[in-house]
Order: sequence, then structure tokens, then C-alpha cells
Amino acid sequence: MSSEAVGVPVTQLSEDEKLFTDAVRAFARDEVAPLTRRMDEEQHMDSALVEKMFALGLMGIEIPEEYGGSGGSFFDAVLAVELLSAVDPAVALVVDVHNTLVTNALLRWGNEEQKRKYLPRLAANTVGAYALSEAGSGSDAFALETRAEMHGNDYVLTGRKLWISNAREAGLFIVFATVDASAGYKGITAFLVEKDAAGFTVGRKEDKLGIRASSTCELILDECAVPAAQVLGAVGKGYKVAIETLNEGRIGIAAQMLGLAEGAWGHAVKHAKDRKQFGKALVEFQAMQFQLAEMATEIEAARLMVYNAARLRDSGREFRKEAAMAKYFASRMAERVASLAVEVLGGLGFVKDSPVEKLYRDAKIGAIYEGTSFMQLAAIAKSVL
Ligand SMILES: Cc1cc2nc3c(=O)[nH]c(=O)nc-3n(C[C@H](O)[C@H](O)[C@H](O)COP(=O)(O)OP(=O)(O)OC[C@H]3O[C@@H](n4cnc5c(N)ncnc54)[C@H](O)[C@@H]3O)c2cc1C
Repeated sequence: MSSEAVGVPVTQLSEDEKLFTDAVRAFARDEVAPLTRRMDEEQHMDSALVEKMFALGLMGIEIPEEYGGSGGSFFDAVLAVELLSAVDPAVALVVDVHNTLVTNALLRWGNEEQKRKYLPRLAANTVGAYALSEAGSGSDAFALETRAEMHGNDYVLTGRKLWISNAREAGLFIVFATVDASAGYKGITAFLVEKDAAGFTVGRKEDKLGIRASSTCELILDECAVPAAQVLGAVGKGYKVAIETLNEGRIGIAAQMLGLAEGAWGHAVKHAKDRKQFGKALVEFQAMQFQLAEMATEIEAARLMVYNAARLRDSGREFRKEAAMAKYFASRMAERVASLAVEVLGGLGFVKDSPVEKLYRDAKIGAIYEGTSFMQLAAIAKSVL
């Protein structure tokens, strides 16, 4: 798969951010791009690649240096997701879930003991996964049915989780369960569950339209005993853990869609310059220039929204409306740009030799996970009306 034409020039960055993005872009080009097609076809995330992401510090971006991390910002994590997505949104999702959901939840809700126990592992070698969804609870996440009953000093978890990203690679799972179904959302509690906990199994892996290298699996909790010390945050406060992390996580998905569109646009421009029809390069036709210009404008609009939401979050200001708008807009934009990129490449855009075929398939997930597009519109409406 060609790796030459990825991304558009990233503006609006500080010198440190530019150095960081240069390193991530080089990694994506040199290490990720050569594996992308095979991983997609085999529906398998290369474990050596994940190890390299740990070595590069991409799995501990926001983890403070005292816990072995890079001590970066949430915005840095968003930049990493964006740049990896220009080459492979499935690889970017490993980094995204790990940093913006799992690490993020531990940093905010973990007690000192939990931070000392897990943050160094999350920075060094343990992939994180985030398990909220179930067969009966997707958009209505707090209708979850996984139960957590107190037995001595342990909670015993029973239930099934569905569609859990990173499940095959992960060593640590944040699992949401209810300690009291009659209490509604106020019974929901977040637990830190290790992959080798008795009664915990990673089940069937989904065969998906896009981001096929990312493992999306069922989790089976069959009387899985979790010590009470593994409660993340407080008992009955899991809904807060979920809401707060997902508010931030959706900026990561917006960044994934932004990067994907940048990647597709880069391939479209390269093709338009290389391909001749009617005696001229395609890019010399004004109709082609206008399409590429429109795509670039939509990408820039999404970038401003994504960066703004991430920077608002980092500065401790209100960002929920901006995050929902960024995810909604960036996912729609990515579908449009990837679709146009397929058309710019013509027949070549429709076959697997071209990276845009995969990016087009990958774009669809942006409107579904971490809150569907309708759920983003509901959040936006609540905030603006
Ligand atoms: C590849 C992939 C990876 C995922 N990774 C994770 C993960 O790591 N962890 C995790 O916990 N979950 C994960 N999920 C689950 C994902 O978050 C859910 O699929 C998503 O929240 C939608 O839930 P649902 O599939 O049950 O759809 P539903 O909630 O059933 O929605 C179906 C449709 O109905 C619409 N709808 C629902 N309610 C309303 C309403 N009130 N008004 C109008 N329209 C409505 C939705 O917008 C959607 O269009 C993943 C899913 C996929 C496909």
C-alpha cells in the first residue's frame, strides 16, 4: 500500500507539538503503512507494532513522567490519533481507546494505589480496553445488565459486554456493571478487571466492514471475582466515570475521522497529479481542482473544531458542546471526503490496491461508536436550545 501521500500540512501547532507530530507522522509512514493492508485483510493487529507504539511513548501520552509516561496533554493524544488515522484508523483506535478513555479514566478517577499499580503498566506494555456496551444497551448505555454482587471483600461480576475494542490485545479492562439494578444509573460502578481474572473471558471477535485490524469482541463475565479495591471512582459513580470519559473520548474519535479524511485527501491529490486523461494531469482540470479544494476546506473546518474542543478540555473549560459538534461534523466530513477520494481515483479507488478503498470503509464507524451521530445531535440540541 502506498505511503507517500498521507496527510495535509498541519498548521496551528507549537514547536513542541510540531516535533511530536513529525515523529508520529514518520512512524505512521515507516512502520504502520507497510502493514496496513495485511492487517486489514487478516483482521489482525500486529503485536510488534503495538510494542513499537509503547516504545515511542504513544501509549502513555498523558501519563505523568513519575508513572513512566510522556507527561503530555490530551491535545497531544488527539494529534497522535489524527496522524495515525491518516494511514490506518484501526491502529489509531488502539492508541485512542487506550489514552483517551482508559488512561484518562484512571488519571481522573483512580486512587493513588490504583495509579501506582496500573499507570506504569499502561505506559509500558499493557493495552487498555473500555467495556460499557451490551447487547441491550448501546445508545441507552445505562440500561446495562451486567451485575456486580458483593461477596466478602470481592464484587462478583456476571454478564456480557459487546463490541469491545482492543479486547484481544488488552491486559486491563474498565468494566461497567450495576451493584443495584433498582437504583437505575445510580447503581452503575466501574471496575478495573485484569485479563487473567478468574471468570473473565474474551469471546467472539466481530467480522467488520471497516477498522478490521482492530479487535472488537464480546466479553464474558461468569462470576468474575474482582476485589473491592478495584472499584474505579466510587460505588454507584460509574455513570459519572462513563459520561466524563466519553465526553472527552469523542474528541479522539473526531480526530480519528479528521486524520482519515486527511489521508484520503492526500491520496486523491497525488493521483490527480499523476494521472493523465485527455492529454493533461487530472489536477489541471478546474472541476478536479474545485473538488480537492472543497475537500481541503471541509478538512480544515473539522480540524479547527477538533483542536478547539481538545484545547478547551486541556484548559479546564467547558467543552461538551464543542466535542459533540466536532465528532458529528468530522464523521460526516470523513465519509464525504473518503467517498470523493474513491471517485478521484476512479477504478483504482474501488480496488484494494488503493488505500482509499479501506479509508472509505473505515469512515463509517465514526457515526456509530462513542455515541452515534443522532446521540451527538441530541447532546448539541440540549446545549443550544
Ligand atoms: C467497531 C465498534 C467498536 C466499538 N467499541 C466499543 C468499546 O470499545 N466499548 C464499548 O463500550 N462499546 C463499543 N462499541 C459500541 C458502540 O459504542 C455502540 O455500537 C454505539 O453506542 C451504538 O449502540 P448500538 O449499536 O446499540 O445502537 P443503538 O443504540 O441500538 O442505535 C441504533 C440506531 O438508533 C438510533 N437511536 C438510538 N436511540 C435513539 C433516540 N433516542 N433517538 C433517535 N435515534 C436513536 C441510533 O442513533 C442509531 O442510529 C463499539 C461498536 C463498534 C461497532
